[in-house]
Amino acid sequence: MSPEPTDTGCLFCSIVAADIPADVVGETEHSLAFRDVNPQAPTHVLVVPRRHVANAGELAESAADELGDVVLLARTVADQDGLGGDYRLVFNTGEGAGQSVFHAHLHLLGGRAMKWPPG
Ligand code: AMP
Repeated sequence: MSPEPTDTGCLFCSIVAADIPADVVGETEHSLAFRDVNPQAPTHVLVVPRRHVANAGELAESAADELGDVVLLARTVADQDGLGGDYRLVFNTGEGAGQSVFHAHLHLLGGRAMKWPPG
């Protein structure tokens, strides 16, 4: 089953369509990377699939290659930002885990020391 390419009213679909401005730092055929408006680290970038799917699990189920593309673009941006291979990748999934935008997105965080466990 193929997901709908866009979802009316979805913030990240609007960014992908360039209807809403964003600080874009990388892109591929399948994915777009832009800086988070409320950064939690010196580097805080969101990498999203261009197609609308709600979360990472749905992306893996419908198009595992596009999930891989999201992760590879995050690595490219981490390299561009000079993170030297030290960064954190996070997919919040579900409201209880902190997901607030229901278009799959990978958080790339870096440029400061990271603690574990996360909050
Ligand atoms: P999450 O809470 O995991 O769903 O992450 C959503 C992220 O989107 C948050 O870190 C927000 O700061 C970020 N965000 C919300 N609106 C925008 C926007 N217009 N441009 C860039 N990032 C945004």
